[in-house]
Amino acid sequence: MLIPRMSPMARFKNVFDSPPVPGVKQLLKWTVVDSVSGRRRRAPRRAPVPVVANDGRRLREAVGLEAATWVGHATFLIQTGGLAILTDPIFSTRIATIRRNVPPGLRIEDLPAIDVILISHNHRDHLDLPTLRRLGPRPLALVPSGVGRTMRRAGLERVIELEWWQSHDVADVRFTFVPSHHWSGRSIADRNASLWGGWGILSPRRRLYFAGDTGYFPGFREIGERLGPLDAALLPVGSYDPRWFMRAQHMDPSDAVRAFVDLGADRLIAMHWGTFKLTDEPLDEPPRLLDEERRRANLDPRHIVVPAIGQTIELGAPAG
Ligand code: ZN
Ligand code: ZN
Repeated sequence: MLIPRMSPMARFKNVFDSPPVPGVKQLLKWTVVDSVSGRRRRAPRRAPVPVVANDGRRLREAVGLEAATWVGHATFLIQTGGLAILTDPIFSTRIATIRRNVPPGLRIEDLPAIDVILISHNHRDHLDLPTLRRLGPRPLALVPSGVGRTMRRAGLERVIELEWWQSHDVADVRFTFVPSHHWSGRSIADRNASLWGGWGILSPRRRLYFAGDTGYFPGFREIGERLGPLDAALLPVGSYDPRWFMRAQHMDPSDAVRAFVDLGADRLIAMHWGTFKLTDEPLDEPPRLLDEERRRANLDPRHIVVPAIGQTIELGAPAG
């Protein structure tokens, strides 16, 4: 069984040590040395990505809807088991100096009443304080161990921290926090002081997995076994270049297909691309590579779903 491990400094660690997540020295090599020497891959800050208009009306009015709507980046509105759930909500126009490529696929005003907010880890593209303040105190927030204080600072009053493999039930839906291969920190001082991971969302009708941020790691198999059989795995496919720096913290499309196969899920739903340019690859590259990897793995296109921003994916019928 995978359990969180604490280092002697009372910091969290990944379950599998290799590949190790790079530190400050490697970060400086990527962002400073390789920039100055011209070794970084260059791509425009913006790129056209598919967007569909969504006024949220059907999402607010439909009863018994089983669906996932991609707002952008790692933010989904998931409706299952009668609950409205937001993953890693970020509706802001920028993260520090990084501007959003396209507006959120749903306006915050157009959301149904949110029951549960799931946070995968405390990085700024996943835990956005201005967004949380706008969502208000009503939703229940389920967060990794150590993230509760930040959430309460944003005005959330109902916050529950979980360790890996702990669960919390809301009505008929079970939420289980599971490992990922990543790290945490909002500043230089709090590296790995809080936990990171993904979420199982197990409702009477659908079994879903939201991965948050993760490098490829051997834990996907156990996640698939313990949460499965999974109807859908919401997996990150972007923020992967350069590989020498990103491999241990972000999957590329080939890693995501491998993870999908390990998980044994019916559908991969792609996320974490096209919204914020955090890394060196072109913003619109991930779906192209994902399609190549799908062909290489000989998977039917029905199993690999790349939603447009704003698109609602019905979870009612399995891909088969
Ligand atoms: Zn992260
Ligand atoms: Zn991220």
